[in-house]
Amino acid sequence: METQPKASHFINGTYVEDTNGTPIPVIYPATGEVIATVYAATPEVLDQAVSAAQAAQEAWGAMTGTERGRILRRAADLMRERNHELSVLETYDTGKPLQETLVADATSGADALEYFGGLAATLTGEHIPLGEDWVYTVREPLGVCVGIGAWNYPTQIACWKGAPALACGNAMIFKPSETTPLCALKVAEILVEAGLPAGLYNVVQGMGEVGGALVTDPRVDKVSLTGSVPTGKKVYAAAASGMKHVTMELGGKSPLVIFDDADLDNAVGGAINGNFYSSGQVCSNGTRVFVQKGIKEAFLKRLAERLENAVLGDPLNEDTNFGPMVSERQMEIVKSYIAKGNEEGARLVAGGGQLDKDGFWLEPTVFADVTDDMTIAREEIFGPVMAVLDFEDEAEVIARANDTEYGLSAGVFTNDISRAHRVIGKLQAGSCFINSYNDAPVEAPFGGVKASGVGRENSKEAIQHYSQVKSVYVRMGDVEAAF
Ligand code: NAD
Repeated sequence: METQPKASHFINGTYVEDTNGTPIPVIYPATGEVIATVYAATPEVLDQAVSAAQAAQEAWGAMTGTERGRILRRAADLMRERNHELSVLETYDTGKPLQETLVADATSGADALEYFGGLAATLTGEHIPLGEDWVYTVREPLGVCVGIGAWNYPTQIACWKGAPALACGNAMIFKPSETTPLCALKVAEILVEAGLPAGLYNVVQGMGEVGGALVTDPRVDKVSLTGSVPTGKKVYAAAASGMKHVTMELGGKSPLVIFDDADLDNAVGGAINGNFYSSGQVCSNGTRVFVQKGIKEAFLKRLAERLENAVLGDPLNEDTNFGPMVSERQMEIVKSYIAKGNEEGARLVAGGGQLDKDGFWLEPTVFADVTDDMTIAREEIFGPVMAVLDFEDEAEVIARANDTEYGLSAGVFTNDISRAHRVIGKLQAGSCFINSYNDAPVEAPFGGVKASGVGRENSKEAIQHYSQVKSVYVRMGDVEAAF
């Protein structure tokens, strides 16, 4: 497959190159080979992108929602038709197994385009009667929106931000992560092919400073970031100085609570999905697995048996179900956490090693007997490292689960229906699961509380974050004035 894009950026409906920018090598994580090179956006490229977005937005915002939605739904169809090709590219970009990318990336992006394409025509205001007078409200676009992506779901993030922004009548400039720059360009191509007028979905490449320059550009009205908490704090602060709207989708250290009465295989399956999917590089992962003492040994035994079925191999082979880390840097970060787990006295019960092959391969790793104060129980690792902690009772586990700065997700496995809802009700998290883990349908709001984020993606909630309301008071009679 050709992995070198036609050019680095996509602006005003076409590919744009400027080799004066810093070169960014794109590395296939499974082998460590360079598969493409793009160049970071120069100030000239950024200006071109923002100008194009600003120029195109007004006419787009003035179209009917039905017209906008039709284009988004056509783009969804094109993405589905090309799912295989897009999934292979996503696998090259991220190293994630094709078995996953075929079902979780372009398909999820297409769901967002279809869903928000459908909602576009329903975005109306209210009529508020006040006797003879009345107020009406109008839902208006924000203007130029900037999306900044992480590297774990490049196609999905490009669509989860682009689809609601465009549905509401905004223009978008998307900066993918410098680690995975390829897939967003395909999203831009498809949108244009589906009929999106030029300038409304632009892609510019670059590192943090390119993101920073976009956030501080006075012509930008909104910033939606998917990234780590430290980056989120910087971007939020920079956006605040320009009084811009923000959505922050940040990191987590989410609790997954398994009670004695849970169905064992479902609980183990939830813990596997919540720790090893995408080789653990998922923000909502349930990386603190609290297991009640009565089920602990059975849980660890069954987990060890099922880990035997992990297939680490060529990600393009559909039998492979566990891929490499996205980059050497991320692999080294995760290795340092595994070393800390060992040093601080956690019991390594599976994995823990690096594979002796090219690329950035780590084994799925499980630590048992983890305590709340250990580094691997406190910090986001963003890799395939599960920490299993013991607990005795409900009140204790709720307090311990909430004892974190994060609040992205939380899960509970139990067959006691009252306990399931009671416990979920008390866990401080935005995206929660009962007897499941890590499902993210477009119909459900997604996002975190506490340091894990601000705002929500997906669902009708996302509309609030890509539009603003104008209210208009209409007086029927004379104006009374003091003089
Ligand atoms: P990161 O914070 O290093 O980078 C995220 C993006 O921000 C990149 O595109 C980067 O270039 C850009 N950036 C960095 N500094 C910037 C600055 N000063 N101004 C503007 N942009 C800047 O994150 P990452 O390593 O790419 O991704 C992993 C992190 O993302 C993890 O913490 C993970 O939990 C989080 N994440 C969250 C979600 C979610 O939806 N909540 C989803 C995926 C990943």
